[in-house]
Amino acid sequence: MNDVGAGSLANRDAAAFFAAEWPLIKLFHYGADWLVYDAKPHFAFIVSTDEMNLLMDFLGGKLETDIFNTCSSQSDTCSSQSDAKVIKNLLAKFSELVNNGVFIKGPVVEISPVDRTAIKEQLAYYDANILLRKFCLEVTEDCNYRCTYCKRTIANGYRPHSKNKLSRQNAYKGIDYYFKKYTAFFQRLSREKQELLLQIVPPGISWYGGEPFLNFELIQQTADYFKQLPWEQYSIKTSDLRFASNTNLSIMNGEILTFLVDNRVSLFASLDGPAAEHDKCRVFENGAGTFHTAYRNLMKIKQFDETYFRQNVSIFGVYTDQHDYDQCLNFTRNIGALLCQHFPAEYTGAFVSRVAETNASFSDSLEQRLLNFNDKLSADSQNSEIQIEDYSNLFPFAKLNYDQPAGKNSLQIQLTCPMGFDNLMVAANGDFLICHKVDASMPIGHCDSGLDFEKLTDLNQRYNSLINNHRCKNCWNVNFCSVCAASRMTGETFVNPTPQECDYFQLRTSYDFLCFIPLALDYPELLQKIFDYRNDRKSFVGVIDINDF
Ligand code: SF4
Ligand code: SF4
Repeated sequence: MNDVGAGSLANRDAAAFFAAEWPLIKLFHYGADWLVYDAKPHFAFIVSTDEMNLLMDFLGGKLETDIFNTCSSQSDTCSSQSDAKVIKNLLAKFSELVNNGVFIKGPVVEISPVDRTAIKEQLAYYDANILLRKFCLEVTEDCNYRCTYCKRTIANGYRPHSKNKLSRQNAYKGIDYYFKKYTAFFQRLSREKQELLLQIVPPGISWYGGEPFLNFELIQQTADYFKQLPWEQYSIKTSDLRFASNTNLSIMNGEILTFLVDNRVSLFASLDGPAAEHDKCRVFENGAGTFHTAYRNLMKIKQFDETYFRQNVSIFGVYTDQHDYDQCLNFTRNIGALLCQHFPAEYTGAFVSRVAETNASFSDSLEQRLLNFNDKLSADSQNSEIQIEDYSNLFPFAKLNYDQPAGKNSLQIQLTCPMGFDNLMVAANGDFLICHKVDASMPIGHCDSGLDFEKLTDLNQRYNSLINNHRCKNCWNVNFCSVCAASRMTGETFVNPTPQECDYFQLRTSYDFLCFIPLALDYPELLQKIFDYRNDRKSFVGVIDINDF
């Protein structure tokens, strides 16, 4: 868009203007321009300062003739015929946006449906069309560590550590359920799509605990059972099957090593950093540090089969305020495993730890972070080998609309995955749970009887009712909000983040926007690379809907 008229914005506060009646619109100032983001159509566009003035006049209901008069009285150039034409075109564009659901005033009427019939229809759709992508067996609740950030160690609004183990019968029934779901989806695909699915989401089991290797016998039995199912009837080879396990690295012997390597098990090993860092929280029941044991066992794997280690073992660490994040990451990255990632500790009912300090420190460092990001952009734009995952905070922008908006007052979006259909865990007592991150308080079925659609309807209704709260309905960040159902579950209820926690989420998204704008304007080729990666099914795998696969 061209600059038009003379700017009178110096005396006008654009942010206050929109905040008064358009809570779902957020403005970002960038140089002399503004990015306008409207959450209802999930749509963004850029205007100059003068165009912003014009937009406010238009939205404020000023008559077209008055807009022309004001403009020509403030600008020498506005009176020319070509400028009048530019203004006319802009006003026509704004009207078109209004007709397409941009600039709808007020909060959202409904974010997610709460009507039972609508929910049931949605569940039936999920049941028929969503791939069960992650299937997890909680082979035991038992653990020989007492990590101080572990929800089970703290056991505040969460199930404590116990000795419960999954029975073989229940594990097999759970696997039968998964087999039926996976193959039903698979056989509806063309051969070409089947091959793609086998590459990106092959059939598989993940073993979870507690510490899964405390029930190694069941791990072996379920692997054997899984492999002998009639996969070949669907042209799926045994070599297509995949296994994964978490481990705290407390147990590693020759039998386990052979099993891991023979089955190419993807192993997610917990190590928080070097000894002094790791032992801050990862301790045995007697409080002694676990680093020595964990590291020795990790090295056992590496020595046993270095290729397996490099290709199949990932290191996942957890950090808290007490940890030196960079030191931890440097340490684990130098071990030579496939992947190293460190995640913040998650506490039941809390979404951001030490929220006041976290907010303050993120705000204080925002400017420097943006400078660093800009330096990175400049360096990466010259580099053909970039780490695309470094830009993962910008992946959600691939779904942003820049053209043809279609806004409405009732969003009808889900602020979580399709519970029970994309991800399923068979708990140690045989219950079906929405994922491995939750305790057994809200089961959604059982391996004897499959998914319980009444329970699922209740769960979705309760969750969606919680989402439709006043604060979320007025939040411009609603499409970017990544607080899922599992993280909101505490005991038998769901909870919302606090206002301060939401401030932090909004601040994070604002930072992402301020990274996105220079990337989009100055480095479009780099942005395209990032979006190509995000949209490539082989590199980024999200929820799989058969109608969009
Ligand atoms: S190893 Fe895992 S389950 Fe065990 S105490 Fe630590 S975090 Fe909890
Ligand atoms: S940031 Fe907070 S208010 Fe906004 S959508 Fe997320 S939970 Fe709701």
